[in-house]
Amino acid sequence: MSTNLTRRQFTQLAALTAVAGAALPRAAQAAEATLPELPYALDALAPHIDAKTMEIHHGKHHAAYVTKLNEALAQLPDLAGKSLDDLQPAIAGIADPALQAAVRNNGGGHWNHSIFWETLAPASKSGAPGEKLAAAIDAAFGSMAAFKEKFAAAAASRFGSGWAWLIVKDGKLAIVSTPNQDNPLMKGIVPDTDLGTPILGIDVWEHAYYLNYQNRRPDYVMAWWNVVNWPAVTARFDAAM
Ligand code: MN
Repeated sequence: MSTNLTRRQFTQLAALTAVAGAALPRAAQAAEATLPELPYALDALAPHIDAKTMEIHHGKHHAAYVTKLNEALAQLPDLAGKSLDDLQPAIAGIADPALQAAVRNNGGGHWNHSIFWETLAPASKSGAPGEKLAAAIDAAFGSMAAFKEKFAAAAASRFGSGWAWLIVKDGKLAIVSTPNQDNPLMKGIVPDTDLGTPILGIDVWEHAYYLNYQNRRPDYVMAWWNVVNWPAVTARFDAAM
């Protein structure tokens, strides 16, 4: 029921955005962040991630980051033309503390969730890391099993809300975690994180798993591996190298 309704709402939103965009001048259009459509149905990741969690996570949480980012960017014309990627390292340079916090939380939230949806897929399409990525995982962590163990530990031990990331740094893979909606692209913002290019990230905010897993974050992380989109992660790895 809600699946179809929400899909229709997405379509309507996209149509409205297109109409509004056409009526706006070019500069304003570039500044407008938009909620990306999910590349699969809301129930496509079940039972590992349930449809209701996906509906609220994407349609409410991610949508709110987009709305609030646009509110902040309306007051930051200098950042108007930047892509979402290029916005991340520019956040440290925002002088007004309240606006910086708004872009950090919501611009980070928008970037983080965008990569999150892209690097997930139905379990039947999860696939496996490409040859070079598999070799890099072995080189950095010893084995795929050791990598998964270390990544899961980073996800489990992030206190409160945040993310664990697999990043490419100086041509090698590393695992880091960030609090709240920070990410490793935020140059000058994340002092305790090795900056690099994230190619995979797991959201460990309670909103990502609470309906299905309650306090059992490790169970969510274990299930999440089943829906990692390895071809997409491999493509990000190849681009980052
Ligand atoms: Mn989230």
